[in-house]
Amino acid sequence: MPAPEFQHTVGKTAAFSGTALHTGDKVTLKLHPAPVDHGIKFKRKDLQDEPTIDAKIENLKTVERATTIGEGSVRVHTVEHILSALSAMGVDNAIVEMDANEPPIGDGSAQPYVDLIRRAGVTAQDEPRKFFDVREPLHAEAKTGSLLVLLPDNKFRISCTQAGPNNRFTQFLSMDVTPAVFEREIAPARTFVYYEDVKPLMDKNLIKGGSLENAIVVRGDAVLSKEPLRFGDEFVRHKILDIIGDLALVGRRIRGHIVAVKPGHAANADLARSITREQTRRSAMSAPRAIPTGDSGLDTGTFSRSSCDAGRDAGRSNGAGSQHPAV
Ligand SMILES: [Zn+2]
Repeated sequence: MPAPEFQHTVGKTAAFSGTALHTGDKVTLKLHPAPVDHGIKFKRKDLQDEPTIDAKIENLKTVERATTIGEGSVRVHTVEHILSALSAMGVDNAIVEMDANEPPIGDGSAQPYVDLIRRAGVTAQDEPRKFFDVREPLHAEAKTGSLLVLLPDNKFRISCTQAGPNNRFTQFLSMDVTPAVFEREIAPARTFVYYEDVKPLMDKNLIKGGSLENAIVVRGDAVLSKEPLRFGDEFVRHKILDIIGDLALVGRRIRGHIVAVKPGHAANADLARSITREQTRRSAMSAPRAIPTGDSGLDTGTFSRSSCDAGRDAGRSNGAGSQHPAV
């Protein structure tokens, strides 16, 4: 058995300001340390009572263009890039405090968040990490042609094929996801959008903070961006970035190999849901039975006789079995 891996949080609070993609407002994000088993929570500092939202798949609200989570009427949009950086850089527990409804978009990549995490530092805590070990393949598909398959593996790996309209910009990349690989190969990859998809949004003024400084725009065969491509295959790298961010909503580290074809937020979220369902099933199976202890406890012999009686009772009449919930 390998030595257990421990949970990690950030060493101290660090902040980063910028523009919110959808509203165009200025937003300041602060990353705070959090205790073990806390997970990642977003805090809306700008709202009364400063509500928090757990970064859990149960709180997923929408997946159009970006990943939105919420609890009650409170929402946080575009969480996938900061979640990707936190997950890949090994931060299990943190509070992401913001004074708006989405993080600053930065340059459209996860680089600003990696820089933020580096400034805050990453420190080990004294509880073991929680993992999801893939035993049987899981998969998710979406109408858009997205297909994700999760296979058993002793590491977290992603093999991804990205393809644009008419299979233009088809790119493939496979890697083990470690903090060093993420920082070097994935974090700098920027968001890319197709002109025909964003034109209607620009016309409706729905992406006020969007510009060529925080996204690459693909129009036909042309690639428009403020600076040249950072990688020849920047698009598939950003797709991997988004997969890591969306799957962070599982709340456990995944040991498995994701094979993704044309992934998108909807299919990523579906896979996160399947993983969580499987984890819930396993937890229910392994939950300890409540066996009475102390003077009123039953010894093994009595317990098994009692179980048999309960079984017969349940078979004979409705309701009798309900007094023996352990059976
Ligand atoms: Zn993205």
